[in-house]
Amino acid sequence: MSAIDIVGGGLAGTEAALLLAGAGVDVRLHEQKPERRSPAHKEDGLAELVCSNSLRSDNPHNAVGLLHEELRRLGSPVLAQADLARVPAGDALAVDRAVFSGGLTARVRAHPRIEVVAGEVRELPPGPAPCIVATGPLTGESLARALAEAVGASQLAFYDAIAPIVAGDSVDLSIAFAQSRYTQRDRDTMVEGVKALRRIVQAPAMARHIAEEAEPGPGCASDADILDYVRRRGSTVYHPVSTCRMGQDGKAVVDERLRVRGVAGLRVIDASIMPAVVSGNTNAATIMIAEKGADMVLEDARV
Ligand SMILES: Cc1cc2nc3c(=O)[nH]c(=O)nc-3n(C[C@H](O)[C@H](O)[C@H](O)COP(=O)(O)OP(=O)(O)OC[C@H]3O[C@@H](n4cnc5c(N)ncnc54)[C@H](O)[C@@H]3O)c2cc1C
Repeated sequence: MSAIDIVGGGLAGTEAALLLAGAGVDVRLHEQKPERRSPAHKEDGLAELVCSNSLRSDNPHNAVGLLHEELRRLGSPVLAQADLARVPAGDALAVDRAVFSGGLTARVRAHPRIEVVAGEVRELPPGPAPCIVATGPLTGESLARALAEAVGASQLAFYDAIAPIVAGDSVDLSIAFAQSRYTQRDRDTMVEGVKALRRIVQAPAMARHIAEEAEPGPGCASDADILDYVRRRGSTVYHPVSTCRMGQDGKAVVDERLRVRGVAGLRVIDASIMPAVVSGNTNAATIMIAEKGADMVLEDARV
């Protein structure tokens, strides 16, 4: 097979080049950087991540994580480098962008079957050898025009979704707070909860009262099975609290006399002011909050 031209050494071009070269095909990889850059590309390396360093969720229970897993099993070089360049980000596959791009650039440049050709490609290669155009959403005008002509369109379009990076030091933490969306702990807790419940009902004192385990059932044995069961059957109960938490710190909505901070004459007197959920049902505690709160209103009125 004759050499294949790949135009664009971004994520797609790098993946295609390494896969084809690995399969024994000679590749000419054309990359316009550093001679020319799109408005979004800042670095010189291949497979530069523009914008977010997150490749989104790595959880195989959702579509993106499943794609990651499939790519790994298919031997994707880009995914392998992402795993090497991984930085902690909870469920997400986030990478150190310099390690990510640097590793892939080194691999491409070291590959005996890949020739990296520097410079902007302004026309489609004439053929007959196959060509891959992988110039991304910011393809320059000349090549975009050539592409449009080749496919008989007057212009090209792309669809986009946005995931902006927010610099931590640009956030005013007097009015915002950090909250992890990491959920691994929640999952572990739920699985442990099911196991703990089983231990309790299997204890001798309880076991004689139990005929059989109806749910999740004895077939549900591994942690993965239990998690799957929890995902399908788990739901919240009606004890939401703490949305207007009482406290003395800056994040508390009401003070210890249930007055809304910064708003004169307004109190919140219900379950939402609990600093944390109580260990039993919330109704008795809520009635007591109302009793105490009403008393505070009266006290203040008397002063
Ligand atoms: C501003 C911006 C922000 C984005 N943010 C995100 C995000 O947060 N998350 C996300 O998943 N996706 C984001 N995207 C989408 C992103 O483009 C894709 O995820 C991914 O980079 C696409 O890979 P690609 O290989 O198709 O294109 P690119 O990664 O853009 O690679 C194209 C490569 O081709 C080269 N090239 C272009 N034209 C020529 C030419 N004529 N001759 C030679 N070389 C050429 C470029 O220099 C570049 O190296 C963003 C895109 C933009 C423009």
